[in-house]
Amino acid sequence: MDRCLLPFLCALALASCREQGLSAPTPAGTQVTFDQSRAWKLLLEQVDIGPRPAGSEGAEANRRLIERELQAVGLKPVRESFEDLTPAGKIQFVNVYADLPGSGTDMVIMGSHYDTKRLPFRFVGANDAASNTAVLLEVARTLATGKQRGPTYRFLFIDGEEAVREQWIDPDNTYGSRFHARKLRDSGQAERVRAFVLLDMVGDADLRLTRDVYSDKRLLEIFHGTARKNGLGKYVDGPSMDVRDDHISFMQVGIPAVDLIDFSYGPGNSYWHTELDTPERCSEESLGVVGRIVMMGLEVLETGFGRR
Ligand SMILES: [Zn+2]
Repeated sequence: MDRCLLPFLCALALASCREQGLSAPTPAGTQVTFDQSRAWKLLLEQVDIGPRPAGSEGAEANRRLIERELQAVGLKPVRESFEDLTPAGKIQFVNVYADLPGSGTDMVIMGSHYDTKRLPFRFVGANDAASNTAVLLEVARTLATGKQRGPTYRFLFIDGEEAVREQWIDPDNTYGSRFHARKLRDSGQAERVRAFVLLDMVGDADLRLTRDVYSDKRLLEIFHGTARKNGLGKYVDGPSMDVRDDHISFMQVGIPAVDLIDFSYGPGNSYWHTELDTPERCSEESLGVVGRIVMMGLEVLETGFGRR
């Protein structure tokens, strides 16, 4: 086709869509509509709540924010509440999730923990975990307001990822993801979950995603490779590390999983779990980069990744 004809044909197509009351076709390459400024506002709003550890008023305020955002795009959030024994006694944990039905029978679960670590100072967790929760909310909005997808998407906001103790000693961590994954297994639903994609600590102003060694290699390559092919290579392929996180809970029930995380926050990860984890060390651009990597990676995952 002659290049000069293209604008003319597109104008014709648009006119015909308008006549039929349809929206204009999405030109190739512009499907990624992730809005980083919305995500950034959601990060700031969570930080303003203050500390949000499991069982706290801050965690409840964060849940209300999550539910408000999901409901605003027509999703129906479900609270999954359970009690577990921790080194600090019994705590009531609450996961929040919403499903976006697809045309097929399988499911992709996208996860983000929303609790912050309980620490003996005012820890607001801009990166850990307001950033990942903000990006997942914006991914949910983008998917829920876009074209229908093949798989059903579950947006899972996980409580109790953080260890109650200072140290990470099993089983004092990943309370919410272990509960949700076990329920999927016991109900027989785990079989239909094609993949679990975890976001954690994605707001670092100096963003470079870690290559987590536990993550499914093919899933890791889908996201890092897609970033590389789309001019975002400098934000991926960070150092190889073994990152214990919520994705392990899903792997333990046979679901392929990947952790999209930048586990190098400040020199020697020195901002992690400190007073320095504030919005000043995060950036709106980083949220946008991760949002675009996720949206592009999901397209590849949907067409090119099967469990068996
Ligand atoms: Zn943490």
